[in-house]
Amino acid sequence: MLSAFPPSFAGSSCRKKELVASGKMTSAKRKALNEGAFREANEKLERSPRELDLVDGDSLIPFLCECPRHECREIVLLTLREYEDVRSSPKGGLAAVGHEDRSIERVMAQNNRFVTTEKFGEAGDVHAEANPRG
Ligand SMILES: [Zn+2]
Repeated sequence: MLSAFPPSFAGSSCRKKELVASGKMTSAKRKALNEGAFREANEKLERSPRELDLVDGDSLIPFLCECPRHECREIVLLTLREYEDVRSSPKGGLAAVGHEDRSIERVMAQNNRFVTTEKFGEAGDVHAEANPRG
């Protein structure tokens, strides 16, 4: 299954970029921006298998955990359907089980592969504003 993806999938393009956090930013805002960067990476990850028509709605696709930890390299497996569900909310996010940050988001659903979250307060506003689909 994984071998069907382009080689770049397993390479450096998969790594999370560290955002330079300005000292003026609140921690909620910084975390939200950080998660937003992972969301953008995931939007790109979703595109290639979909455009190449490699998967149907029930195949598991590897996405990046969108938690705010810089050092996190966790991969979470979602079907395209599940991923689309997460992205249907501008404040929604996905994370590995246990990686949610309850200071900026609440857990909406959880299974044995991932949790879906919704950001609230300032983090939610920042996340919604940065929505690549908005
Ligand atoms: Zn994580």
